[in-house]
Amino acid sequence: MTTQVNYKEPAPIMNKENPFESMMERFDTAVNLLGLDVGIYKYLKSPTKQVITSIPIIMDNGNIEVFEGYRVIHNDVLGPSKGGIRYAPDVTLDEMKALAAWMTWKCSIVNIPFGGAKGGIKCDPTKLSIHELERLTRRFTANMLDVFGPERDIPAPDMNTNEQTMAWIMDTYSMHSKRTVTGVVTGKPMILGGSHGRREATGRGVMIVSVAALQKLGIKSTEATAVVQGFGNVGSIAAQLLHEQGVKIIALSDINGAIYNPKGLVIPEVINYVERNSTLAKFPGAEAITNEELLELECDLLVPAAKEDQITSKNASKLKCKIIAEGANGPTTAKADPILQEKGVLVIPDILANAGGVTVSYFEWVQDRMGFFWTLNRVNTRLERMMDEAFVNVYKTAAKYDVPLRIGAYILAIDKVAKTLKLRGIYA
Ligand code: GLU
Repeated sequence: MTTQVNYKEPAPIMNKENPFESMMERFDTAVNLLGLDVGIYKYLKSPTKQVITSIPIIMDNGNIEVFEGYRVIHNDVLGPSKGGIRYAPDVTLDEMKALAAWMTWKCSIVNIPFGGAKGGIKCDPTKLSIHELERLTRRFTANMLDVFGPERDIPAPDMNTNEQTMAWIMDTYSMHSKRTVTGVVTGKPMILGGSHGRREATGRGVMIVSVAALQKLGIKSTEATAVVQGFGNVGSIAAQLLHEQGVKIIALSDINGAIYNPKGLVIPEVINYVERNSTLAKFPGAEAITNEELLELECDLLVPAAKEDQITSKNASKLKCKIIAEGANGPTTAKADPILQEKGVLVIPDILANAGGVTVSYFEWVQDRMGFFWTLNRVNTRLERMMDEAFVNVYKTAAKYDVPLRIGAYILAIDKVAKTLKLRGIYA
């Protein structure tokens, strides 16, 4: 029996700035200020390993479908490489390269002994059944057995992947290793060697650095207003924790639209509503606005926690916030940076603002290797200390070089990796 091919290539996403070029622009600026040796520059800009793999699976209807999977290890000078795996129709190798490099800088900034990596599968997860997702994840893991490993390369959740995905990766890797290897992935369910506080860690980190930035500007949390774009794992937790700090959240959004209430939204009520309706659209007691209007609202703090390329050269001049805390990876394009700088907006860059997730991933990996698990209080206290330290270090570096926090963060991160590389030397 022959089967009809009806899979359509997803339409290319227009107007998307190349994320790798966006990353390289900031990297080049930081490298020039650091006066880095040209050989080290060449080393750090080249990803260590780029894997593209075909993933054939049998679909529920019996047909064979072939997907493309990626894993880019940008750098492993500081230790095993670390970074998430995302499932999306617009995953590209260039995007993986940028996100992998960002992971290198992120781990360096928060002082954890990991390099950077990122992976993904080009697929539309909303069109796949749970069984198809499981087969896809397991076959991808099998193809990556020589890449992944608790001392080599450690995946974690990212866009459209979750604790269940990590459990499948852990199980597949363990079956091949003939023993349970919990340390091969982080972001696992608690009962499989996951860590308390991992799920909330990225949002919690965003809250910690946002509060630190408000303090720098002399704004009391209880008198501050905030707008959060995106209501997934990062946005919803950041909104909830900021709300607990007394910050008034005046607007929120998800993929279906945005809601606004100048008097402030009661976040636990919104979370409750989203749990019942799976969207925040039509939340009672709030006005519906567009995503564009949301970004341009007057507020103290804007948290873009949705996806890449949201603040661009087109809308940056219209923003009316004092602080941006980048919960997502790459929400601001390189072309928007000078516009925000000119306007005096304090941007807490993604590689600092959303590093709470990988920090608690590190805690999870440590606990798995010790076989001894920490309390939530210990996780959160250590996370707070490390995020606060990272914020201070980035702030001091930016002040020393008289540059925005983003470039300060790159300088701090690149300097550490470059120094480590010089000590290790080049193996020949
Ligand atoms: N995907 C998350 C990030 O972009 C977490 C990565 C990790 O924990 O390894 O930071």
